[in-house]
Amino acid sequence: MTGLSTALSRPMPAPAPRRGCPLSDIRDKLRRVGLRPTRQRVSLGWLLFGKGDRHVTAELLFDEAARARVPVSLATVYNTLHQFTQAGLLRQLAVDGTKAYFDTNPSEHHHFFLEEEGRLVDMPSEGMTVSDLPAPPAGMEVAGIEVIVRLRKKG
Ligand SMILES: [Zn+2]
Repeated sequence: MTGLSTALSRPMPAPAPRRGCPLSDIRDKLRRVGLRPTRQRVSLGWLLFGKGDRHVTAELLFDEAARARVPVSLATVYNTLHQFTQAGLLRQLAVDGTKAYFDTNPSEHHHFFLEEEGRLVDMPSEGMTVSDLPAPPAGMEVAGIEVIVRLRKKG
């Protein structure tokens, strides 16, 4: 259990003040993880990472791209999101089977899911501890815990 408590008490990195980061920052970010900064990747990266920590679906990012007049197909948006995820820039969250959510904060943290809106929000990092987990099977250890608490309006 020591590994678990260490993982949970790890301090969250302070959110960097990011308002509309310049395109050169996005190009650097892509190069650092070994992705060639193509125009489409840079444009989508700018939409994704220019507004602080957030949670998007491919459909939402596709809509944003259309509004920003970035010429990409939904398939390209999907592919790019998965490439960014494999490169460690995004974290894919398993909320339900119908939609993939991508988090621009790839570090481990917990979420509220607002069911009516289909929206994820970060849980305050000091708000929760996980305890009394069953021991993992022999030869296994807990690599991470990500909790999603589903919320709906009362009544
Ligand atoms: Zn998150």
